[in-house]
Amino acid sequence: MTHHTFDHLLIVGAGLIGSSVARAARSKGAANRITVVDRDPAIIAEASALGFADSVTDDVSTAHDADLIILAVPVGAMADVAKTLAPHLASGAIISDVGSVKAAVRDALTAELPASVHIIPGHPVAGTEQSGPAAGFASLFDGRWCILTPDNTTPDNTTDEIALERLSGFWQMLGSTVEIMTPEHHDLVLAITSHVPHLIAYNIVGTADDMETVTRGEVIKYSAGGFRDFTRIAASDPTMWRDVFLNNKDAVLEMLGRFTEDLTALQRAIRWGDGDALFDLFSRTRDIRRRIIDAGQDEAAADFGRPHGDND
Ligand code: NAP
Repeated sequence: MTHHTFDHLLIVGAGLIGSSVARAARSKGAANRITVVDRDPAIIAEASALGFADSVTDDVSTAHDADLIILAVPVGAMADVAKTLAPHLASGAIISDVGSVKAAVRDALTAELPASVHIIPGHPVAGTEQSGPAAGFASLFDGRWCILTPDNTTPDNTTDEIALERLSGFWQMLGSTVEIMTPEHHDLVLAITSHVPHLIAYNIVGTADDMETVTRGEVIKYSAGGFRDFTRIAASDPTMWRDVFLNNKDAVLEMLGRFTEDLTALQRAIRWGDGDALFDLFSRTRDIRRRIIDAGQDEAAADFGRPHGDND
């Protein structure tokens, strides 16, 4: 594995992911100098005090000598941020991002940025339900996948191989394993592994909140019976997730269609007392859980490794 240390890494967005990239890049020596740009004075002050970057500013012109720029803002803000950065970028700089949707970000960046920079969208498949600069940590990307989606679909839009190698090396240095795929394939895979599960969590927590015959107090009191793990996911950032659904519409609707068909089949199995159908599905899904643990993507400890209190 060959590594290229970037001279000046500039990250836009001082939130969970942006601050984690800064922390990880610093701890692994992946960049000589790190600047973080954000728009909110309170966030800038908080991020400066946390000290994970050499400077935190609202001045996008600091990008003029950056050789790697990573956009860590919500997907819906990518186009605006790219537009404000565009006049300040050095020729040959690599521009990437961490957005959870890729085709829409590819389109936004390609429309706004000059042809003299290398655009390579990316998505570290790592995160938590927290947000903000204090929520980040340096080991977030350790042992996780980072998907890069270079746009090689048209002859005049072929990603520079050296730029791709450098960006891959950066994420490997941060502890990730890099996978390359098209933006469209990324969006389809993530629709079923991440986006639809979040929608289900938002929906079930919303339904419980709307119930009239079960009180809100009872929902909270008996939450250990499965509901609690949905509430963790449903506590994820509203802006980020609104943007994910608005920007990955087709893939989410496709997966939601299949999900709804399968849910109807389950409904029928319950109605007709088809225990074999239920047992077969539940055995298959238990096996998937085992394979995720074997692949090192979660821990086998009971209750996701949480300490058990008296109330559980
Ligand atoms: P976050 O903690 O909310 O941080 C986002 C930061 O971007 C905030 O400080 C926000 O400031 C700032 N921002 C928003 N619009 C901006 C703009 N126009 N100019 C400058 N700064 C702006 O969110 P996050 O969880 O780090 O998510 C960032 C990106 O990572 C998203 O695209 C998301 O899809 C992706 N991602 C998230 C996860 C996850 O688990 N959270 C995992 C992988 C990838 P304000 O507070 O002022 O809006």
